[in-house]
Amino acid sequence: MARLAQTHGLTDVQKEILATVRDFVDKEIIPVATELEHRDEYPQAIVDGLRELGLFGLMIPEEYGGLGESLLTYALCVEEIARGWMSVSGIINTHFIVAYMLKQHGTQEQKDHFLPRMAAGDVRGAFSMSEPALGSDVSAITSKAVRDGDEYVLTGQKMWLTNGGTSSLVAVLVRSDEGHPEGTAPHRSMTTFLVEKEPGFGEVRPGLTIPGKIDKMGYKGVDTTELIMDGVRIPADRMLGGTTGRGFYQMMDGVEVGRVNVAARGCGVAQRAFELGVRYAQQRHTFGKPIAQHQAIQFKLAEMATKVEAAHAMMVNAARKKDSGERNDLEAGMAKYLASEYCKEVVEDAFRIHGGYGFSKEYEIERLYREAPMLLIGEGTAEIQKMIIGRRLLEDYRFQG
Ligand SMILES: Cc1cc2nc3c(=O)[nH]c(=O)nc-3n(C[C@H](O)[C@H](O)[C@H](O)COP(=O)(O)OP(=O)(O)OC[C@H]3O[C@@H](n4cnc5c(N)ncnc54)[C@H](O)[C@@H]3O)c2cc1C
Repeated sequence: MARLAQTHGLTDVQKEILATVRDFVDKEIIPVATELEHRDEYPQAIVDGLRELGLFGLMIPEEYGGLGESLLTYALCVEEIARGWMSVSGIINTHFIVAYMLKQHGTQEQKDHFLPRMAAGDVRGAFSMSEPALGSDVSAITSKAVRDGDEYVLTGQKMWLTNGGTSSLVAVLVRSDEGHPEGTAPHRSMTTFLVEKEPGFGEVRPGLTIPGKIDKMGYKGVDTTELIMDGVRIPADRMLGGTTGRGFYQMMDGVEVGRVNVAARGCGVAQRAFELGVRYAQQRHTFGKPIAQHQAIQFKLAEMATKVEAAHAMMVNAARKKDSGERNDLEAGMAKYLASEYCKEVVEDAFRIHGGYGFSKEYEIERLYREAPMLLIGEGTAEIQKMIIGRRLLEDYRFQG
């Protein structure tokens, strides 16, 4: 029985959900993940299974047909799923962020319209801030919306949409200068639009094109795309929250919970890497004994396990803080930063333990080695996390001289 990454103080319901998800991961994801990943194949059967388990509605309130669970429950499920295959956690992550943004910021009509179908997994969400010329510097967005009667006309190019092809609802952040005179701070003139579209590629709605899948080094199976808007007409009532100028804050709120999610993914991938490393170290013999009996390898295992524990503890702390209603930007930034860096290091150590075989596609660690770097970038790079952490520390520890 694994003793790493245990979480104390869970309710019986949380324990039951996690046991179910872990069982699903062990039986339905781990045995097929590497093969599907090598073929860059969308894991439809796995997604159908997650839908049956209610995972798409895990945090959506019960009144809208979801399970109404906490961020902690969600993050612990994500950790389990990423332990099986990181791409699968990516399929539910953008959906979760959009559902969260709707729950927090949507009008009543928007919640009634989208959340029940999102809870059932019939409508699947993607979110889109990044553009070809920017990712970290969200305030530099150039895509824009111009009002025309009861509609807005959207133009511009978006980049890096996780689930861009498979989703049917994209939360798109654009600049909307109307009502915001010249000189308004950039982040005060942005609006999130709820853009419905057909899943698939090509022109999926008049004026809206999803060109195709971006070919990536890892994080395969899940589609990542561009999105081109050339005069897409969106009704004014599809502005998130029914108003212009709130988009930046809404997206940052979504990304904040997304950071806990990425931290959880880092924890899951690191746990799997540890499991693979500790197993291989007891099977492989050199100089007359299992390599696990060489102190250098034991030290590696000790470092790996310590990192797994530390990342898990920080991730759980960040999720619990948000669940308690407190601001958690510092904790989420720290958890995301630490978990993604540790994940990369633990995966690299497990890879080294495998010797030459780690380089072979026959071994699972090869896949993890290509997946871990994505976590260093998604939901903000390490530098961006450190900017958030640093700013927040200076608020809390302001010098009163
Ligand atoms: C597989 C994948 C999936 C993604 N999915 C989504 C998605 O679903 N939706 C979405 O909107 N985006 C998505 N992204 C985009 C992702 O959020 C951005 O790639 C990320 O924010 C970094 O932006 P960038 O690539 O433009 O790098 P840049 O912002 O150009 O940064 C380049 C480098 O400069 C550093 N840097 C930037 N500014 C500073 C600074 N002020 N000080 C110090 N260093 C700095 C960065 O840390 C980085 O090392 C995805 C990306 C990938 C790779």
